[in-house]
This record gives sequence, structure tokens and C-alpha cells, in this order.
Amino acid sequence: MSGSRLTIWHEYRHEKHNKEVADIYPEGMHRALAAGLAPYGFDIKTATLDEPEHGLTQEVLDNTDVLTWWGHMAHEEVRDDIVDRVQERVLNGMGLIVLHSGHLSKPFRRLMGTGCMLKWREADEKERIWVVDPSHPICDGLPECIEIPEAEMYGEHFDIPPPDTLVFISWFEGGEVFRSGCCYQRGQGKIFYFRPGHETYPIFHMPVVHKVIANAIHWAQPVSNPPMVRGNIPEFMP
Ligand code: ZN
Repeated sequence: MSGSRLTIWHEYRHEKHNKEVADIYPEGMHRALAAGLAPYGFDIKTATLDEPEHGLTQEVLDNTDVLTWWGHMAHEEVRDDIVDRVQERVLNGMGLIVLHSGHLSKPFRRLMGTGCMLKWREADEKERIWVVDPSHPICDGLPECIEIPEAEMYGEHFDIPPPDTLVFISWFEGGEVFRSGCCYQRGQGKIFYFRPGHETYPIFHMPVVHKVIANAIHWAQPVSNPPMVRGNIPEFMP
């Protein structure tokens, strides 16, 4: 299924303040992702923290099928009324894909209801992302293991609710493991958390990472049900 209306949300601060990051992502991680996902045929827009309403006006969200989220150093600058808006759209069917350090973003914590903290270490370690649910649509066309040559380590315990479906487990050179591909449903919306994507590694230039995210966008696409009827109904209306 192509043609999903995708909005790539990005904090877009590290690239402006850190030369190492700017060298890897000269136009920002959001544009690297947009370029990598372009061959999949999505209708792609980007939005960033410093735009009015963080680029996430009601109109933008109403015209978004799937939203991706990357944030790290400025989670607390995200306005609570915008978080309310994102949450509402997810509950009404919009897909949400949370990348890497987005685990501590306001929308993800709100939708999970837990602390969402984990262990971490920056030591240029190899990561192997193992597919543990090979028949899941997010794993379509993937090898049994994706190797990231150098990554930031994320380790358990990851303070999330047990995923509805766990599709990836990561192993790191230093010995830790991590639930790195976690699927949830909240209301009518689908949420996928995907671990890789630290700002000082070129991970969002890797075609296999684009493939995972594209698969997740297809999986998280809203279904076209009529609005759910809830509340008091005087009689059964077939
Ligand atoms: Zn990181």
C-alpha cells in the first residue's frame, strides 16, 4: 500500500548546534529519512519543533495517516496542548512510529503510561537486531538479523508496558539486550517503537532501516472504519 500521508516530526536541534551531527545529517535527520522513504511512494511532509505549533497544527494532523517522532534534547519544550492533539489523533486511528530517543518524548510516555526509561551507553558498540516475529508485516523482506556496525547501547530494563507484539530484540557487543521493536494498539491507533537512530551515527542513511520504517508505516496505516458509536443508545440500531 503506497500513498500513506506521512508526517516526519523531528526536534532538529542537534544538527544546528553540533558539528559532528551536522556532518552526518547536513539537512537534518528528517530530510535524510524523507529521502530514504521517498522510493516507497508515501506522500511525505516534515514538521519540526521550532515551527509554529511545532508544525503539528490540527489541519496537519487531520491530514496525517502516520506520524514519525524523533526527539532527544528538548522533549520538555513540546507543548502539552500539542501532545493532547497527537494523543487524540492516535486514539482516533493515526499511526505513530517512535524512533530511538523518542522513548522519553511526551507523546510516547503519555500513550504508554509508564516512565519509558532504560539503560544507555555511548561506546561505538556493534548492535544485532534479531527478528523474533518473522511473519509480522514489519519484518517483511528483512534478513533474520540486521547488523548496525556502531550504535549507542540501550539496555533493559526498558520501562514500557509489555508490547502487544514484540518483533525485534537487540544484542549489543557489551552484553546487554533490549526490546527494540515494540507494537502497541491504543484506541484505534497503532504505535511502533523502533530503537536505532542515535544522532552521531549515520543509521538513518541505512536502506535496511528505511525498509523497517516503511514496513511499519504500512502496518500503522489507519483502517477506514466509520466513527465508533459510544455512550447511551436508546435502542439497538443495526
Ligand atoms: Zn541516542
